Amino acid sequence: MFDFSLTEEQLQLRETVRALMARHAPSEQLRRWDEEESYPYELYARWAELGLLTLPFPTEVGGAGAGVVDLVLLAEELGRSGYDLTGLYGTPIFTGLNVLHHGTPEQQQRFLPPLLEGRIRMSVAMTEAGAGSDAGAMRTRAERRGDVFVLNGEKVFASGGAVDDTFICVYARTGDGPHQEALSAFLVDNRSPGLEIHKIPTLGRHMFPTTQLVFTDVEVPADALLGPLNGGWDVLLSGLRLERIVTSAAYVGNASAVVDEALAYAKERQQFGRRIGDFQAIAHLLADMATDVEAARWLTYRAAWLLDTGQDALLEICMAKLFGSERFVEIARQGVQILGGYGYSMEFPMQRHLRAAVGSTITAGTSQMQRETIARRLGLKPR
Ligand SMILES: Cc1cc2nc3c(=O)[nH]c(=O)nc-3n(C[C@H](O)[C@H](O)[C@H](O)COP(=O)(O)OP(=O)(O)OC[C@H]3O[C@@H](n4cnc5c(N)ncnc54)[C@H](O)[C@@H]3O)c2cc1C
Repeated sequence: MFDFSLTEEQLQLRETVRALMARHAPSEQLRRWDEEESYPYELYARWAELGLLTLPFPTEVGGAGAGVVDLVLLAEELGRSGYDLTGLYGTPIFTGLNVLHHGTPEQQQRFLPPLLEGRIRMSVAMTEAGAGSDAGAMRTRAERRGDVFVLNGEKVFASGGAVDDTFICVYARTGDGPHQEALSAFLVDNRSPGLEIHKIPTLGRHMFPTTQLVFTDVEVPADALLGPLNGGWDVLLSGLRLERIVTSAAYVGNASAVVDEALAYAKERQQFGRRIGDFQAIAHLLADMATDVEAARWLTYRAAWLLDTGQDALLEICMAKLFGSERFVEIARQGVQILGGYGYSMEFPMQRHLRAAVGSTITAGTSQMQRETIARRLGLKPR
């Protein structure tokens, strides 16, 4: 009845991405990008060359027409090199899908071909100092003045906001009513006059740095409006399910890299005349870590399959994200423990995995917000 096997195409996709990452993002290179906090432009170009940026888009717009499970497999594979990289891959794609679903034919024509070819990128700015989990509380305003909208306000944590050739999907207030009826989405060139962009130093996410955006009378043409005026909340919500499940797959990939590295170390490292992996304390730790990765993987795959088959899947997606991120933090912490002092050293990738893991319970909706949604789906009304 149940068939858990992957298709030939899916296995091929996984192998292709694995080979590409081994060639263009080896461990030493990843360490350099992380240390130097530099965006890997060349890697992104290789992804574009291989057609990875076209994956979830329909064939009519030049896409590969792949499903959610395919995207999840790709995200897991990229996540093996670091959860940063899945954010770097996914953020432009999710915004591009919003252009596909809510944009005018002119916007689709203008943004999708260069996005799919890797000539432009996209970023998202929802969060503000006073509007995090409560995104509807945002205060950045956009006012219509003749042929243009004028944006004023401040955003924080926009990942990749400063990267070259980026258009930022900025959510702003255009009305005075409740946020469901008063927000709009705008596609803003990150070189727009009046827009100041500052990098926000963070514990992880160094290859795809987060930014503060300060808008002072930034004029955008009227056709930068994405979706209906005051219909921005629906645009914002429409991509969240896909973003969360792809993100969950990245946790699985990154956590499985932790297990692989810790396991290899435990088989090699000798103390007291034995491999440390032969001490039951370490062996059982690794057994638990491997089991958790597998559980997170199948929660993620199943939620992706539900979404692929047109089902609601919100409950399952929140469960996959909650479990995957919380276990990822714990697995990365144990990975550091197994490597001892070397796990804590900046020479080994384990510290990078731990820094990435700590961010995973915050981005794309905090663990507390996942629990809120799960509890509500269970018929509860937590206060
Ligand atoms: C690495 C990184 C990348 C990011 N990238 C982007 C991006 O590209 N674009 C973007 O717009 N934003 C981005 N963000 C912002 C991210 O979405 C927010 O940080 C997140 O939504 C939480 O908001 P906050 O940080 O203001 O925390 P707050 O919402 O202030 O939450 C603080 C704490 O209170 C808890 N809490 C809040 N409300 C409730 C509640 N109702 N019930 C129980 N607990 C609650 C939270 O779970 C958390 O533990 C990024 C953040 C990070 C760290």
